[in-house]
Amino acid sequence: MHFFVDIIWKVYILVSMTRPLMTNERGKTALKSLRKIKPFIQASLNVTKKRCGNPRCRCAQEGPLHEVALLTWKEENRTRTLYVPVKLRQEVERWVQEGKLLKRLVAEVSQAQREFLTSKKKLRKSNKG
Ligand SMILES: [Zn+2]
Repeated sequence: MHFFVDIIWKVYILVSMTRPLMTNERGKTALKSLRKIKPFIQASLNVTKKRCGNPRCRCAQEGPLHEVALLTWKEENRTRTLYVPVKLRQEVERWVQEGKLLKRLVAEVSQAQREFLTSKKKLRKSNKG
């Protein structure tokens, strides 16, 4: 039984390797970048200034206020926020940038696939004469 599964798996790998990618050059380029995507998040990171709420803190009277980094995203039409510690700010900013890149690449592959479909349609038309 295990031998059988092993054979099927090997055939599958072979077939998926030899089967041409159903996309164009634009799609191939975007897919290549997609494969290199690093941890990402679809949210925005905003740094604002706030009073901490402690009545004895310097911020309660003259300031300066405290800098707070907040991660904001939409969930079921509601805006959600999450506090980001200073230590992780740069890292989270990288996730946000990666999230934007991912969004662009998804749009890019979608566009490539539409173009691919359109070119196939044109090809069929011209073959018919
Ligand atoms: Zn304070």
